[in-house]
Amino acid sequence: MESERQIRSASALIALGGNVGDVRATFKDAIPDICGMALAKLLARSSDYSTPPWGDEDQAPFINACIAIETALDPLALLSVLQKVEQSFGRTRAKERRWGPRTLDLDLIAYDDVSLRTPELTLPHPRLFERAFVLVPLAEIAPDRMIGGTRVRDGLASVSAQGIVRLPDTG
Ligand code: ATP
Ligand code: CA
Ligand code: CA
Repeated sequence: MESERQIRSASALIALGGNVGDVRATFKDAIPDICGMALAKLLARSSDYSTPPWGDEDQAPFINACIAIETALDPLALLSVLQKVEQSFGRTRAKERRWGPRTLDLDLIAYDDVSLRTPELTLPHPRLFERAFVLVPLAEIAPDRMIGGTRVRDGLASVSAQGIVRLPDTG
């Protein structure tokens, strides 16, 4: 009897950010690269937002967005894809200061309901619920998603979104 092969896929939420170069153009090119390299389907993409810098305020504003994808890669393989895409858009982590200027930052926010704490990868992302710059775009595409026991829209309601501005679509 022929066995049916089933490819299990997971839903992953990814936050994009950057404040060096033409970040919106970077996002536009990076998203299909992520999907191609992760053998993933793009389920949703938020608008782009201009956001005040967080953690290190002495730098240019950031552009942030979020995407939801469906992928057959495991979490660490997906993280590795994200880091390759960051590098291909000029990210050089060795030369950076923490939370400082960067061309492209791709954080894995959640992967199904996986909970993980290793040196390479923590899931869900540990600082998600402190960050309006992630919660605002995330609430646009997944307001009812539960992450670590909290609904995204409720997480957003408990932070200040001051200074975050949705940017008009560039088409
Ligand atoms: P933050 O994690 O606070 O947003 P950052 O994005 O500036 O800070 P990076 O320098 O991009 O930090 O990444 C540091 C390390 O974080 C990476 O080498 C990666 O292995 C690790 N990491 C742990 N959990 C995650 C995650 N959920 N998504 C992306 N990277 C993660
Ligand atoms: Ca980050
Ligand atoms: Ca990162």
